[in-house]
Amino acid sequence: MEDVKRAADLIKKAKYMVALTGAGMSTESGIPDFRSNRGIYETMPEDALSREVLERNPRRFYREGYRILDNLAQKKPNPGHLALSRLQEEGYLKEIITQNIDNLHTKAGSKEVYEVHGETRRVRCTACAYQGDFQVMKDQVEKGVIPPQCPECGRPLRPNVVMFGDPMPPAFEAALGAVERADTMLIIGSSLQVMPVAYLPQYVDHLIIINQEPTPFDTRAEVVIHRGAGQTLEEILKAMGLYV
Ligand code: NAD
Repeated sequence: MEDVKRAADLIKKAKYMVALTGAGMSTESGIPDFRSNRGIYETMPEDALSREVLERNPRRFYREGYRILDNLAQKKPNPGHLALSRLQEEGYLKEIITQNIDNLHTKAGSKEVYEVHGETRRVRCTACAYQGDFQVMKDQVEKGVIPPQCPECGRPLRPNVVMFGDPMPPAFEAALGAVERADTMLIIGSSLQVMPVAYLPQYVDHLIIINQEPTPFDTRAEVVIHRGAGQTLEEILKAMGLYV
């Protein structure tokens, strides 16, 4: 447990800590990640969640990629999300940059969450300014209306997530601001292989990585813990004298 103690010490010493979270943060909430050996890419081709497939082959998109976006609304935060929320409440953690689209940091009570790959609360029209609840899309997909249509102009709707081929959303600008302010970054459950997010850790002095598998930044980090996120974060909080 020496690594847990070192992580706790580094968090206490940090002047401004931000978190960067990926799909591994939410696997303990029953949402599979993409790249680990039980990840989504074992059963789904990598391009199924791309703008190209959405536009050129919507039937394929709604058969393959869409099923990952659906069903996220019922998922609940796990002890890891709650631990981060607690660290924020205590002032140790300032901002959270997440690649996740599952809304679980916000459900756990966290504030200043930058969803750099979008979110699954809302959908938007590809032609007009319409934005609506995810349910508007879900209802149509379930009735076989593919692509689902904008209730205002009739053109195709699309999910509010960032897919391969999409530009980064305004939340990425906010994330860059957070990185500029940070001296410490707590990275949890990310393979650190998806650009441009995977560039961010290089701009921060002190890195703590919690990930079940090795990442390209392990040699640069001061603490690396290759174990589950939820239990590890609970242990770190305990070492700091905090309870979730
Ligand atoms: P990734 O799938 O590339 O990597 C996830 C990493 O988490 C892996 O290295 C894995 O070893 C690790 N991991 C899995 N379970 C863990 C656990 N319990 N504790 C600690 N580590 C664990 O994920 P990524 O880097 O976030 O990139 C994938 C992309 O897919 C992201 O851009 C994200 O937008 C999207 N995605 C989101 C969700 C979600 O919202 N929950 C789920 C799947 C994919």
